[in-house]
Amino acid sequence: MGKKITVVEVCPRDGWQNHKVPIPTETKVKYIKEMIDYGATMFDLVSFVSPKWVPQMKDAAEVLQESKKYAKELGKDIEFMALTLNGKGIENALKAGATSVQFVISASEEHNKRNANRTIEESLENFKAMASQVKGVKMTLALACGLGSPFGDDVPADRIKYLCEEAFKVGVTRIGLGDTAGISNPAHTKEIIRALKSICDISQIDIHLHDAYGMGLANAYAAVEEGVTSLDAAAGGLGGCPFVPGAKGNIATEDLVHMLQALGYDTGYDLDKVLSTVRSMCDEIQAVPTSSLIQARKCHQG
Ligand SMILES: [Zn+2]
Repeated sequence: MGKKITVVEVCPRDGWQNHKVPIPTETKVKYIKEMIDYGATMFDLVSFVSPKWVPQMKDAAEVLQESKKYAKELGKDIEFMALTLNGKGIENALKAGATSVQFVISASEEHNKRNANRTIEESLENFKAMASQVKGVKMTLALACGLGSPFGDDVPADRIKYLCEEAFKVGVTRIGLGDTAGISNPAHTKEIIRALKSICDISQIDIHLHDAYGMGLANAYAAVEEGVTSLDAAAGGLGGCPFVPGAKGNIATEDLVHMLQALGYDTGYDLDKVLSTVRSMCDEIQAVPTSSLIQARKCHQG
């Protein structure tokens, strides 16, 4: 078996959060169970945010508890991450039993201003105050637009390094480097990862890629060439692009696993099971899978 790479399944949170059709709790739980069955060991599972803003996440506590129950029945050690944006969110996530919490800051000054109505420095202070509330679970800091801003402002490597160093100081052990707008390219992805390798261990870096410009897998390849061992992906490539309506979303789990397997990496995923889950999930929740593999297999089956 080749080197182990963790594919973090982000469909339950990033893929479903803005899906137009409400997904019933039991449907979510059914497909999360299938994702565990197909090999996912780490999830970006839910967010504890106001149901007014993200109605699809209003059942976060129940989804988390049911998912944990299933992992326990199987005797599997699965990491379930919960995204939180404020103190209330952290409180609810911990109460519901999240095994790790995720915070988000945008590394783009312009995006952060539009999204959070704050400067990056203000967001950083706010994040540090929140992180100090968290005890006993792992913390991830996700850097939205960490691989580039869609608004044309510069996102320098030095800023990424600074934000990561500040996060490590308050107990964060893992950085989610996000290409939120899908605009990075392999050379740039490598450059930022190399900069981060000078301040932390490569195992602390997770790469979150979107495919708006069709460079998702190329960026994933560049990342694994730099030694990255953790990559996010969403079943069916769901999730869209927050900046470009209708554009492709997160890189698809099935496409990433397909590539990594071809390169000889051990993902622990069963690709046939992934495809079968993607087909039935997309049918049931009325989503259109955007992955190449789903399309290619369709042609090959005639
Ligand atoms: Zn995403």
